[in-house]
Amino acid sequence: AGPGDRAAMAEAAAASRPPPDVDTDDCLREYRHLFSPDILAGQVAFITGGGSGIGFRIAEIFMRHGCQTVIASRNLQRVSEASKKLVAATGQRCLPLSVDVRQPQTIVAAVDEVLKEFKQIDILVNGAAGNFLCPASALSFNAFKTVIDIDTIGTFNTSKVLFEKYFRDHGGVIVNITATLSYRGQALQVHAGSAKAAIDAMTRHLAVEWGPNNIRVNSLAPGPITGTEGFRRLGGKFAEDASQFNVIPLQRAGNKTEIAHSTLYLASPLSSYVTGTTLVVDGGSWLTSANNFPALLGIASSSAK
Ligand code: NAP
Repeated sequence: AGPGDRAAMAEAAAASRPPPDVDTDDCLREYRHLFSPDILAGQVAFITGGGSGIGFRIAEIFMRHGCQTVIASRNLQRVSEASKKLVAATGQRCLPLSVDVRQPQTIVAAVDEVLKEFKQIDILVNGAAGNFLCPASALSFNAFKTVIDIDTIGTFNTSKVLFEKYFRDHGGVIVNITATLSYRGQALQVHAGSAKAAIDAMTRHLAVEWGPNNIRVNSLAPGPITGTEGFRRLGGKFAEDASQFNVIPLQRAGNKTEIAHSTLYLASPLSSYVTGTTLVVDGGSWLTSANNFPALLGIASSSAK
């Protein structure tokens, strides 16, 4: 390779180098802005599931770009503690609220409170979800229904309340956090895969119907993301220890900041002409990773002990 080729490779390496992250639900110890620091200045984001994991980091990255946030989930203590950390690290306002996305009246009450406090909501991130490994044969009727209730119906409930209360008249942007599970029929994931596939469909339906109201609706499908409940529960650590990430085209799991950066892109004017699509943020993982039924059964039974 000549010097020109080497320079091109070095540039490519920088473009796929992960930003630093921390595995716990704490704010980043260091942060270097890649986007303009004021790209979300003056905006308000409503983030379900914002008290932990990926949702927490999305809230932090948004706030580091000038956004005020509302983080909403069932456990008020969890979102309240998260909000204190986020405010201390970023100096932006963050309102923690208790919401169960399965119960529309709790969303209505939360959105009313937000509009009283902030007068506007510009961005909705639907991140609330529940997941676990389980073969279809062992999944109870109720377990399947619960995942559909939280992920799919919860996303619809929240989007509809936001539409009626604010987005219909003011426009807005919605980012639905989904998954790649259904693309290849991931073993032990019929519940979450079906729930997330339905959300990707919802993304397209709502993008079409609400486009004329200046509402953009997109999905973001993460791959295996370190420092999350999903990673811990779905065998991420096991895969990492067994060097299974070598088959991922980018040779590694992703981190929460990488998901937050891609969410920031979808929520910001950088993607002003992007709607009705799914952005897959997985290092190419779904194309090449093993879909090993017996190995996953082993992880599921050892994590149940
Ligand atoms: P997480 O920390 O468990 O996040 C899920 C959040 O949803 C929690 O904050 C939880 O808070 C909230 N939640 C659950 N049920 C709710 C309900 N009924 N109403 C309101 N909030 C509810 O997990 P994560 O791994 O960071 O996942 C975040 C998102 O990324 C999820 O949509 C997940 O499916 C997706 N994802 C993750 C990965 C990964 O590798 N981690 C991969 C693909 C997709 P409360 O318990 O307080 O309600």
